[in-house]
Amino acid sequence: MRYTQYFLPTLKETPGDAEVVSHQLMARAGMIRKVAAGVYDYLPLGLRVIRKVENIVREEMNRAGAIELLMPAVNPADLWQQSGRWQQYGKELLRFKDRKDTEFCIGPTHEEVVTEIVRGTVSSYRQLPFNLYQIQTKFRDEIRPRFGLMRGREFIMKDAYSFDIDDAGADVSYQKMYQAYRRIFKRCGLEFRAVEADSGAIGGSFSHEFMVLAETGEDAIVSCDSCDYAANVEKAELRPAASAAPAPALPLEKVETPNMKTIEDVAAFLKETPQKMVKTLILITEQEEIVAVLLRGDHKLNEIKLNNFLGCDHAQLADEETVRKLTGAPTGFSGPIGLTCRVLADLELEGMSDFGLGANEANYHMTGANHGRDFQVEAFVDLREAEAGDSCPRCEGKLEAWRGIEVGHVFKLGTKYSEAMQATVLDAQGQERVLVMGCYGIGIGRTAAAAIEQNHDENGILWPAPLAPFQVIITLLNPKDEAVLKAGEALYEELLEQGIEVLLDDRDERPGSKFKDAELLGIPFRVTVGNRGLKEGCYELQERCSSEKSMLPMGEAAARLTEQVRAALATDPA
Ligand code: ATP
Ligand code: MG
Repeated sequence: MRYTQYFLPTLKETPGDAEVVSHQLMARAGMIRKVAAGVYDYLPLGLRVIRKVENIVREEMNRAGAIELLMPAVNPADLWQQSGRWQQYGKELLRFKDRKDTEFCIGPTHEEVVTEIVRGTVSSYRQLPFNLYQIQTKFRDEIRPRFGLMRGREFIMKDAYSFDIDDAGADVSYQKMYQAYRRIFKRCGLEFRAVEADSGAIGGSFSHEFMVLAETGEDAIVSCDSCDYAANVEKAELRPAASAAPAPALPLEKVETPNMKTIEDVAAFLKETPQKMVKTLILITEQEEIVAVLLRGDHKLNEIKLNNFLGCDHAQLADEETVRKLTGAPTGFSGPIGLTCRVLADLELEGMSDFGLGANEANYHMTGANHGRDFQVEAFVDLREAEAGDSCPRCEGKLEAWRGIEVGHVFKLGTKYSEAMQATVLDAQGQERVLVMGCYGIGIGRTAAAAIEQNHDENGILWPAPLAPFQVIITLLNPKDEAVLKAGEALYEELLEQGIEVLLDDRDERPGSKFKDAELLGIPFRVTVGNRGLKEGCYELQERCSSEKSMLPMGEAAARLTEQVRAALATDPA
């Protein structure tokens, strides 16, 4: 592609609403343009990257035996009513009516539509198993669309759905997708982890998220330093306390702690560490049930674990008035002694004795407290958030903490949709069986954005070669110079013939600004063609990921570059 004939509107200024680096760089590199909140144009350069991701995804899905189709973006409400999600989905589902007043939505995901296809076409176990996928535009009316393609409202997703006669079959289908996803993200040249994820309200099933590691990721994950255990902190299990609590040695005493509300303040005042304190959180569920949760002073509550244990959707910290009514004291002084509500304790507390906690009286705490002796707990439950340094739940290793961007999700659905929508087949005995499903998503745009979050420097993008919009940029220092233009064009043609994707920067601009643009665009190999080099029979080669320059003899340039590009593209997915 010749730059002068291309459509590449780069920006000097970063758009004001671009908070994260991938959004800033995609906008500045002329890859995307905002049309409305969470809705973007994919400009030509951006589309090239999107297609790169799509091609890798498509090749690996096909390789894993999945079959591509395309379902409509517009979904009739009727199907969503059959699954029950028309009522459940809330405002993320964009709904509208046609001229006959019939209700529709734009699909945020396609379980209903695909289940309807299968229900209407498959009747025997002999037709199973199979996996249907599409690469398609979704719409979710996200409450806070932001970060460019990372969390759009309109976005491109690869979604796949597997159908099996039984659970064992569904597990095999799941494993195939899990392996395909590993290959996909390896081939994209990304550093990632497959982590165990919370499967939420569906329950009984399991799921993994594929996380691209990046400081800026929205998700916190942990992985073991010696086995392959890795999980989203939402899900990461923790072990029971290492040993049972020593027998109480101290008497329970009330101590004045004037105006001290935080654990740190109280601990410092009592000349203790937060590890010898217990904090009491008062929470209230959507059914207005009040629960007290006890945690070691330095630990954090994992709300998802609590919701799962309580079987509720949303337990949140109770307001001041509720706390006062329950404990007789303002927040900051709550403790379990004498409470009339349910009291749950994190597993870690099983190993603690003689600790400090709130006295349910303003400006007072208790010391020398012991469970069993001074108060009772209903159960010891794994309720806290995992953090770096915790013991691995599977082996003797320690957990490390990372931040990640969820680019893919594999999910064993079970029979949730097939049961609600009556998707059944006859088995070998002629018995009717409900299909067992799995669903598998990859955010195409989010993957491209995550690649930038992981691979950039202060000057721009550093594309992993497999995702780069072009592999080589040829910068003509002075395109008005006949010799420079001819030499540059010759190399350009030779590389194109080898199937290399090349951008020929033939603009009549200062070399400095061309170099700046080349760095911004992040093309892995830059060849500079200038008068001085030509006199010595050379081009200059610089890789985007290195500051070193080398000379490329003109005669060998195309062959050597081709070899280097192919090596960079050959990521081993095994
Ligand atoms: P998140 O928790 O980030 O909202 P999700 O759990 O809702 O994601 P899924 O329903 O599992 O996402 O969708 C499959 C994939 O689609 C995700 O792994 C992600 O890569 C992508 N995706 C989801 N929502 C968006 C969005 N708003 N913009 C871009 N990509 C998205
Ligand atoms: Mg979401």
